Amino acid sequence: MKFVVDYFGCRSNQAEIQEWIIELEKLGYELTSNPAEADFGILNTCSVTARAEKDVLRFIGRAYRNTNAKWFIVGCTVAQDKSLLSRKYSQYVFLDNNEKKNLVGTVCEIFPANGRVIYHSSFKSRIFLKVQDGCNFRCSFCLVPFLRGNARSLTKNEAVARVKHYTALGYQEVVLTGINLSAYGYDLFPRETLLDLLAAIEPLNGVEVIRLSSLDPRFIKYHFVKELRGFSKIADSFHFSLQSGNDAVIRRMNRGGKSAEYQKILTQFRKFFPDANLGADIIAGFPGESEREFRDTMAFIQSSPLNYLHIFPFSPRPGTKAALLDTLPPEMLHARTHELQELNSELKLAYRERFRGRILPGILIEENPNYSMVITRNFLSVRIPPVRGYKKRKLAVRIGRVVNANLCEGEIA
Ligand code: SF4
Repeated sequence: MKFVVDYFGCRSNQAEIQEWIIELEKLGYELTSNPAEADFGILNTCSVTARAEKDVLRFIGRAYRNTNAKWFIVGCTVAQDKSLLSRKYSQYVFLDNNEKKNLVGTVCEIFPANGRVIYHSSFKSRIFLKVQDGCNFRCSFCLVPFLRGNARSLTKNEAVARVKHYTALGYQEVVLTGINLSAYGYDLFPRETLLDLLAAIEPLNGVEVIRLSSLDPRFIKYHFVKELRGFSKIADSFHFSLQSGNDAVIRRMNRGGKSAEYQKILTQFRKFFPDANLGADIIAGFPGESEREFRDTMAFIQSSPLNYLHIFPFSPRPGTKAALLDTLPPEMLHARTHELQELNSELKLAYRERFRGRILPGILIEENPNYSMVITRNFLSVRIPPVRGYKKRKLAVRIGRVVNANLCEGEIA
């Protein structure tokens, strides 16, 4: 029995997809990348922006018209209006965020497994592990807490058990993800923190690199950064959900904190992790953002140690407070997005240039007859001449050429 998978949105969705693949393969189902030969498909959806939701709906419509596979469609877009989707695409199975946990069971009921064990078919080196879901904040632009509910964490023991399982399958890098990863453990009794979780995972055999998906500045204090430095397996790349560098905009986003505090956090990270790849989410064109407020955000980024940006052009999500505010004219939104994108390319290129000629540790993520791909600990994608036999070994690459803002070339050092 063959299946395809696809997902939209965040790393939590990606982590869930990886977990389902592993579970289904253990039961004897076979992953394929070809929808035409699949008996069923699994799609994890996203409604974080209007654009993401539109893409999801287009995907479902196309699949319904063009493929014979039965799709199991789960997640945030389903949570928005399950009954409408179920009526429109009556051959498909829809599960909202609360029903996601039943996905594998539902698949087994409809497509009974044949029990033939197949080992994980994708390249086993990096695994996304979702250790936290939901969010207790109410940022004015965000629909996620309404779709995924309040913050809740995987227990430390369960997280450790999953990491052991994944390393036994050959994974070397664990990417810890969550809707608000920084809130990890606050809901547990006794209370745990992200640092406690790292302390439990780092000593496990087979774990070479632990990467954190995204950090919320509201949770970051000096001691957190200092203690993080004590973990030898922590990846040299950190991502922050900053959204803006202007205090008035941050306030309207209902996010708390001030740009000066954000800048201090970034400086502390740079002090303890001099070579780290530091990135941030930025929303372009939040409602009411004046020219001066936008310039503040640009100046904030330029004077910060940031090395890359994830830019989200603002899109109103019905049901949120920000959806009631007046949006900027589309041409202004596009111009600001474009300016941020240009800055992002400059930052990324400058960061990559810094490493030309240097040797960086990494892991192999792809073997190909023509080339192999390595992800370094500071999250550079490096194309190297084809190699064999490095799948389960630590390696280091010498950076030769910067091809573009997303790719370097190098060789095994
Ligand atoms: S922290 Fe804010 S943006 Fe992030 S999930 Fe929670 S409400 Fe949404």
